Amino acid sequence: MTKRKENHNELTPESFTGVKLTSPKHTAAGLPAVFSAVRHLMDEMDPVRATKVMFELNQKGGIDCPGCAWPDPSDHRSKLGEYCENGAKAIAEEATTKRLDPDFFQKNSLSQLAAQSDFWIGKRGRIIEPMLLEEGAEHYSPISWEEAFKIIGKELNQLPCPDDAIFYTSGRTSNEAAFMYQLFVRMFGTNNLPDCSNMCHESSGVALSETVGIGKGSVTLEDFDEAEVILVIGQNPGTNHPRMLNALKKAKQNGAKIITINPLPETGLIRFKDPQSIGDVLGEGTALTDLFLQVKINGDVALLKAILKLLCAKERENPGKVFDADFIHTKTEGFEAFISSIEAYDLAKLSKACGISTDQIHEAAEMLASTSKIIACWAMGLTQHKNGVGNIQEVVNLLLAKGSIGKPGAGTCPVRGHSNVQGDRTMGIWEKPKAAFLDKLEEVFDFKAPRNHGLDVVDCIKKMHEEKGKVFIGMGGNFLSATPDTTFTAQALRNCSLTVHVSTKLNRSHLVTGKRAIILPSLGRSDIDIQKSGKQFVTVENSMGIVHTSEGRLKPLARTLMSEPAIIAGIAKATLHPNPNIDWDKLKDNYDAIRDKIEMVIPGFEHYNERVREPNGFYLPNNAREGDFDVLGGRAKFSVNPVPDNALEKGEFIMTTVRTHDQFNTTIYGLNDRYRGVFNERRVILMNLQDIQNEGLSKGDVVDLINEHNGVKRIAPRFLVIPYDVPSQCTVTYFPETNVLVPIDSVADKSNTPTSKLVKIRLQKIAI
Ligand code: SF4
Repeated sequence: MTKRKENHNELTPESFTGVKLTSPKHTAAGLPAVFSAVRHLMDEMDPVRATKVMFELNQKGGIDCPGCAWPDPSDHRSKLGEYCENGAKAIAEEATTKRLDPDFFQKNSLSQLAAQSDFWIGKRGRIIEPMLLEEGAEHYSPISWEEAFKIIGKELNQLPCPDDAIFYTSGRTSNEAAFMYQLFVRMFGTNNLPDCSNMCHESSGVALSETVGIGKGSVTLEDFDEAEVILVIGQNPGTNHPRMLNALKKAKQNGAKIITINPLPETGLIRFKDPQSIGDVLGEGTALTDLFLQVKINGDVALLKAILKLLCAKERENPGKVFDADFIHTKTEGFEAFISSIEAYDLAKLSKACGISTDQIHEAAEMLASTSKIIACWAMGLTQHKNGVGNIQEVVNLLLAKGSIGKPGAGTCPVRGHSNVQGDRTMGIWEKPKAAFLDKLEEVFDFKAPRNHGLDVVDCIKKMHEEKGKVFIGMGGNFLSATPDTTFTAQALRNCSLTVHVSTKLNRSHLVTGKRAIILPSLGRSDIDIQKSGKQFVTVENSMGIVHTSEGRLKPLARTLMSEPAIIAGIAKATLHPNPNIDWDKLKDNYDAIRDKIEMVIPGFEHYNERVREPNGFYLPNNAREGDFDVLGGRAKFSVNPVPDNALEKGEFIMTTVRTHDQFNTTIYGLNDRYRGVFNERRVILMNLQDIQNEGLSKGDVVDLINEHNGVKRIAPRFLVIPYDVPSQCTVTYFPETNVLVPIDSVADKSNTPTSKLVKIRLQKIAI
């Protein structure tokens, strides 16, 4: 056996791949998107398989896109293709016919694999057999499913305490698998169920639960047809939720105005060409943004307060015409304190803090003054800040003052980035389960559920780093690359006695392991899933609370792959004592049986098996959509949120991390960021031209990026300086390359979300 070497497997290679730059694009989608989608599909499979999968993607009863969580239209769905370029890339990655057989691991050691880029690693194909990395070994070897389950069960049962194990979930996991997983974990005895929500929309969940009584958005897709003003804040739908552009286009055609608030002028929000519209393809497409507010990074609270201040003044001039006095009076509390805090601010100071001129702030206030049909959409640009919860609560303040919640054409729209991240939370994947949920779980399955809160992602990493978390199990995802402070997290994983990943493809998390490591290869969304009772489908919940089915249509690449419910059943049986109240085999043999149990435990899932078979699925209850705030004692809550202090010292910059257009979360589809005009390179830092000159730098210079936080110095070496249209002192890099700079102890208040959108850095020029 080759001994494992000590190395930095966690870091992506520092070598450059040959950058090419063009001007940023001004139009999203159109024919280039079609060509890109086809190219990615053809790289991974033959035309017959590609056609089959694409005709089923996002169709009623078909395969739910494993990409983002944007909903499908309930009425008409295009037979030609109800998906976007990045949905095509996502399904191409999963439905690839490339196989990663055990002999690949025989030929490639951990160190050899780690020296490759994430792009190269991800393109090796689907993992076919369970693999085991023995203690000290440099190569994974095949192992039987039975043996793998036995090792996991034994390791778990050897732990002094169930809380020494960590059970992570990524957002692709189906409702059925998520429910079984959390049930197994709680029967094992812990609430250590961190998930990817902890790193993305946790701030939204906390902010919305506190103010409107539900941690999810309140709008439906149909509301976009009626909205009069749509705010898109800290979000880049052209890359991250591309079919949202269709909803925005339709809204524009119905007369809506769009205000975009973002540090970058993202192409998808400038102009959109629907590839399925001949008129769009041959013509100019649709201009989307009416007012672009190029806010400084984390200037959102200052900007929203400035807008609200002007709305207050307008309301004073025309009482009852700007704010919804009746809604405020009957449905909310805290308005007076909120208003007096707003009035105390100075408009000029707010303008300076957010970097938006008072003229533009007046323009935004004018657009909002006369309507109450306002939808506010947002994503990580608001959530991943120290004041992430405050950011969202300031958005809620605006909507409440305008009476824009609980009526058609208005409401909150946090846009989720992974296809079932919202459903997993609904199923109980949460480290802080509500007592009512645990009560029901105990009643239905007759066991004593753990009542202490478990650990979220950041706290799990810290626990593993302290050598107190000993077994890590990841249901999907790429934990190492998705999480902050890469070197710290890598050490945390290395401290485990066992790390286990349920995966479809190889990723960097498989290369940075505990003493022993196991990879369990699962079926993907596109794979036909046959269990004892026959063909199965799974269910998912999209970003707007609609639960619907997803059924695989492609023959799996190998018989050795297992479905996630079957894997969970295998681990549960190998770990827990036989329990007369739960028959794991019965659940995995027929997913209707899982759904029957979900129905017994979780409100809103009545007649689950029947209703989910309806072509459009069903809506889950949503009190905010109904304008019902009984859960908060009858009233939605205004809040007072301070303007964050983003002061920088000389030579300091704020760095925000983003995806390229060839990337979905940590999956790298290619090396291009087409819309931003950056090709064939990921190690870049986008900077304001004046800042580049002030630092004595030039385009193409190589710099190390340095973060110092709480006495710890973090370095991301070798990035190319690229001038870009960003506000002064704001910089942009791609993750996961720069996650190494995100301090583990820099998190959002209340939600504990890593502050990946605001990292203070310095630059150090490197001679090459
Ligand atoms: S918008 Fe999201 S869910 Fe829809 S096809 Fe694109 S990536 Fe998939």
